[in-house]
This record gives sequence, structure tokens and C-alpha cells, in this order.
Amino acid sequence: MKVKVNKDACIGCGACAQICDEVFELNDDGLSEVKVEEENKEKDEFVSVKEELQDEVRDAAESCPTGAIEIEEKAE
Ligand code: SF4
Repeated sequence: MKVKVNKDACIGCGACAQICDEVFELNDDGLSEVKVEEENKEKDEFVSVKEELQDEVRDAAESCPTGAIEIEEKAE
């Protein structure tokens, strides 16, 4: 599973970071982003989610008031 945050849709409510702070964090602009390794920082792409965090990521996506969290379920 992979995930990304559509920054144009995010309103910075923080719900996703509360549900799964291992994957989502609010950046300096107050908008959510997926935590990624430093070398991938520039890429605005889907990021792989560890198996044990996938349910939380789905919960976060369902809880996002603007539907800004996009999930790609297909196998990697
Ligand atoms: Fe942004 Fe949605 Fe996360 Fe709220 S739940 S901070 S709107 S991505």
C-alpha cells in the first residue's frame, strides 16, 4: 500500500497526525505530509506504508474531512 497527501485539499486539521503520527506530520505550513526518508523529500509521490501501519493509514484517510489522503492499494 502507498499513500500521499494532496496538499491542495489538506486544511491542516491534524486528524491524520493524531491517528497515525508515524506516517503523517504537519509541516511548517501547517499542512499534513507523509513522513519520508530524507532522500525522497523532494518527491511528491506515493510513499510505501509498512504493513503494521496500514490500518491506521486507512483510518486516517477515512477521517480526513477533505479526502486529501490518497491511498494506492495495489501490491508493490
Ligand atoms: Fe490535512 Fe486531512 Fe490530515 Fe486534516 S486529516 S491534516 S485535512 S490530510
